[in-house]
Amino acid sequence: MKTQATLPFLPFTRPGIDEETIAAVAEVLRSGWLASGPKVAQLEAELSAYLGGRSVRSQTSATAGLEMALQACGIGPGDEVITPAMSFVATANVIARVGARPVFVDVDLDSRNIDLAQAEAAITPRTRAIMPVHFAGLPVDMDRLYAIAERHQLRVIEDAAHAIGSTWRGRRIGSFGDLVCFSFHPNKNMTTIEGGAISGGSPEELRTIELQRWHGQVKSGADGFDTLIPGGKSNLSDVAAAVGLGQLKRLADFNARRRELVARYFELWGRGAPLRLPERGDAGHSWHLFAPLLPLGEMRISRAQFIETLRGHGIGAGVHYPAIHLFTAYRKLGYRDGQFPNAERIGRETVTLPLFPAMQLSDVDRVVRTVNEVLGAAVAGRASA
Ligand SMILES: *Cc1c(COP(=O)(O)O)cnc(C)c1O
Repeated sequence: MKTQATLPFLPFTRPGIDEETIAAVAEVLRSGWLASGPKVAQLEAELSAYLGGRSVRSQTSATAGLEMALQACGIGPGDEVITPAMSFVATANVIARVGARPVFVDVDLDSRNIDLAQAEAAITPRTRAIMPVHFAGLPVDMDRLYAIAERHQLRVIEDAAHAIGSTWRGRRIGSFGDLVCFSFHPNKNMTTIEGGAISGGSPEELRTIELQRWHGQVKSGADGFDTLIPGGKSNLSDVAAAVGLGQLKRLADFNARRRELVARYFELWGRGAPLRLPERGDAGHSWHLFAPLLPLGEMRISRAQFIETLRGHGIGAGVHYPAIHLFTAYRKLGYRDGQFPNAERIGRETVTLPLFPAMQLSDVDRVVRTVNEVLGAAVAGRASA
């Protein structure tokens, strides 16, 4: 592996910002208007057009958006929201932050998406909403999800942080459904540096979101102010929106490239992969992450050692994610080991391998070759030990 040590470090993800976008940001910086202004309005309009004309409201993060979506649905103390135990912790944190109880259910081992049979079984008279995650950009079964929501009169708040550009039966995630929250964090499929957007919502819900994101304040005339609710502050800046406008132009290409790179992983590992590949999905998968499961039970080294070894070969890897219910904050709510076996196994075994649009197919080849070698040694080492 001597030659590989000289190759540049390959991170598991890296945002791609072009010169045109950098120039557009410089223009905003020189314009004298940096906070929410014409660029935010333009980004919301372009996102709305991208999502079939639905209402779009931007925020400083998906975390802020998810929290405001819950507030807009009137969810608070005494309420329950059903959500998967496998996601980024923000999904559950926002439920707890509005004073409601996150009710976890397990996920499918390969799709990583919420088990909808378990979700329906978890509904109680206190349940107000379901908050699913389109994990890694693979859409949840939207027909089943919304049938359940309708049957039980629940609101759906989709955590679509991974799913900008994903489609379900040809329809874009966010172009239908109740309240759909996207993230534009630098690791996501498009970025505004930090940022997010909510698509959908009733007129009343949109009103609450607007008040929550800017001090609860309304203006009238040249000098009239009122504050209707004690709102917070999570409005996007024009600087961030200028980044987002440049990214949105390239989103289709970014996602097509992600699919090509993943196709290469599947081609090379299609038969006899040394790790368990995630569900392949179809063309509607936007592949935010490529995260197989390690054969930890057969390995002589830990996942941490595996990641360190890959790093030594110039390849970055991540962990998305530990199971949420086993974090201290959620054990305090009474959750414990053994409740959600798939989420727990994913949490232990998952490893995110490099996937971002600027990668070459040869980078995928290098990752596959290196992982095969490292795991070959780790498993053989154990067998002969
Ligand atoms: C990234 C992420 C979030 C939070 O997004 P931010 O924009 O960073 O607040 C929420 N849920 C999931 C599943 C995510 O991956």
